[in-house]
Amino acid sequence: MIKEISIKTSKDYFDSLRNRNLIVYYFGEQIDEPIDHPIIRPSVNAVAKTYDLAIENPEIASVISPFTNKRINRFLHIAQSPEDVVMQNKMQRRLGQLTGTCFQRCVGMDALNSLFSVTYEMDEKYNGSYHKKFKEFVVMVQNGGFVIGGAMTDVKGDRSLAPHQQNDPDLYVHISKRTNKGVYISGAKAHQTGCLNSHWMIVMRTIRLGEKDIDYAIVGAIPTDAKGITYIYGRQSCDTRSLDEGDIDVGNAQYAGQEAMVIFDNVFIPNERIFMNGEYDFAAMLVERFTCYHRRSYVCKSGVGDVLIGAAAAAAEYNGVEKASHIKDKLTEMTHLNETIYATGIASSYQSHETASGAYICDDMLANVCKHHVTKFTYEIGRLAHDIAGGLVATLPSQKDFDHPKIGILLKKYLKGRKEIPTENRVRILRLIENMTLGRNAVGYLTESMHGAGSPQAQRIQIAREMQVEFKKALAIELSGIKNNNSEKLTNKITDYFARVFSPPES
Ligand code: SF4
Ligand code: FE
Repeated sequence: MIKEISIKTSKDYFDSLRNRNLIVYYFGEQIDEPIDHPIIRPSVNAVAKTYDLAIENPEIASVISPFTNKRINRFLHIAQSPEDVVMQNKMQRRLGQLTGTCFQRCVGMDALNSLFSVTYEMDEKYNGSYHKKFKEFVVMVQNGGFVIGGAMTDVKGDRSLAPHQQNDPDLYVHISKRTNKGVYISGAKAHQTGCLNSHWMIVMRTIRLGEKDIDYAIVGAIPTDAKGITYIYGRQSCDTRSLDEGDIDVGNAQYAGQEAMVIFDNVFIPNERIFMNGEYDFAAMLVERFTCYHRRSYVCKSGVGDVLIGAAAAAAEYNGVEKASHIKDKLTEMTHLNETIYATGIASSYQSHETASGAYICDDMLANVCKHHVTKFTYEIGRLAHDIAGGLVATLPSQKDFDHPKIGILLKKYLKGRKEIPTENRVRILRLIENMTLGRNAVGYLTESMHGAGSPQAQRIQIAREMQVEFKKALAIELSGIKNNNSEKLTNKITDYFARVFSPPES
């Protein structure tokens, strides 16, 4: 059960994760206290940093809630202005810099913000009470200082079939039973970021739904230790290095991301925590709003990229090649790519607009462009880091060999770079690059960059939908002097995207 406390510090947060009834499996065994597991703990530390930052730098990571008039963590805030949306990105970049990994809280922030406006618009159409219930939930989690996880990605079975057409109904999370007091849900969600480190989980939709998918049109909030939930922890490349003696081979001993499969076996959601129940026609809107926020949330990777660029620069310096023009050029290229990610994300946030609910949402086109950059540029930045680091990034002997009384002396002698730099420093930086590009945090920096918030094709579909090619053709036809009656009308047909491009910033 969730304790009635207000979590403010990282210590409060660590305490809040103990003595819960989570059923968690890892390596074929059930784990008693995930927070104490040496492989899981770095992921908890990464979330804890979101509490530390709110205290150390309240301007970035906290804000006054308009609902409670109290200072709350920014991850729990409903954006009231374009500036609020922009500040989310600034906080994300900073946390990427401080942890070098996925700090896991953006899914919850983006789920809260998207549901705030979607429940409002659902109620406008159906005269319901979802928005009121949702706002009560938001106030409760703001007062408690909780971490919210989003249960997003269904396992999806045969991708060519709709949820109701699947051979096994559980391949999409669905209502298994209805009662007067609420509903029961069954199914599974794959690779859920930070789910064990969350207090509440919001069950969301993955795809648009049709009339026959009505049992799949369910959105609601459940405590992460609700009866009927089983977590199966996902392996990360080189995860068992966290069990090694010493802190060098692991690369980043303090921080890591977290993903797990979540299985729901008739899990109860009470009526007061249900925020969609059968309104299949709003599933697409919810998916689109969530991905709009979340795709520009991937500016987190520019913060992580700052760490990787710094590691590559340090590796070059320790090798004595920092003044070589090709090294400077590679670092410049890495920075250019990294800032391009940030630029598109922050621009999307600056171009936020108000929804009917009063909550602000970022620009969808630029959010998709940001995320699409992330699917490519992180890999290129990683490639350049490998180029600068040299082959040792993947062939270094273990810390135990360096500590060995006989061969350790040889390794320190032969792996020395510049004379004033201890060999250990050189090894530590190379291990960090390995961690971020091949090891545990490559899951966050590379694979999650590829598939999180939708795989590349999902962004291309959205960009194609919004690219207004007829409008652009008309601009060209007009200027080229081709006589075409239609083109003049089309050149004045400014859509939402260009309306935002041309209007002064909102304040
Ligand atoms: Fe946040 Fe980035 Fe992790 Fe997504 S991948 S939860 S945006 S840190
Ligand atoms: Fe993600």
